[in-house]
Amino acid sequence: MDRHLNPQSGYVDALPYDDFKLLRSAVAARGCKGKVGFSTYEEAIAAYRPNRICPCCASDNYRRDGSTPSGHQRYFCKACNSRYSSLTGTVFEYSKKELSTWVDFITMMCHNVQVDTAADMCGISHHTAFGWRHRVMATIDGYQDRIVLRDRVWIDETYVTDTSLLGDSDWRPRRGLPRNKICIAVGIDTRKTRLPSSAVMGSRPPNA
Ligand SMILES: [Zn+2]
Repeated sequence: MDRHLNPQSGYVDALPYDDFKLLRSAVAARGCKGKVGFSTYEEAIAAYRPNRICPCCASDNYRRDGSTPSGHQRYFCKACNSRYSSLTGTVFEYSKKELSTWVDFITMMCHNVQVDTAADMCGISHHTAFGWRHRVMATIDGYQDRIVLRDRVWIDETYVTDTSLLGDSDWRPRRGLPRNKICIAVGIDTRKTRLPSSAVMGSRPPNA
């Protein structure tokens, strides 16, 4: 047998397209589990959000209430009569894509991949990718506000282009740091306390 021939190739080639899509989804889920430890939203929720208290009134007096159209567990709060799902209040709420797509997207965000490229790679629209990016940013916003770097501190910075602004009719190139550039600074001190990133739009870098 040709050692370069994938023994699964014939099996995959013979699959009807719908079955191939299911297989591709299953492979992505397995890869996702190997990468982050979970292959589905429910597995992640069970680990990180085991208490399904009501997001409206914080009551723990709830009952199961079927499933959402996306297949996620839904709950009914007996205290305030609101319905919510296991994903309510998370970045994944209302998402129709699988967890593996989110993991791919966030991985690309960590590598400063432009939103258009990430959208293309993840098979989602630019509008969806833009919304996802804002959800992720909103989730991590403020978590580093109380981090204080001490003693000797090292700061570095880089600039990335915010492609969402390029379509802005009011955008004009300017001298210095263009408005469509985002300055991202990272820092670390001698105690190895890290300030992972600080993003600033506009005409000057963040103060070191
Ligand atoms: Zn409630």
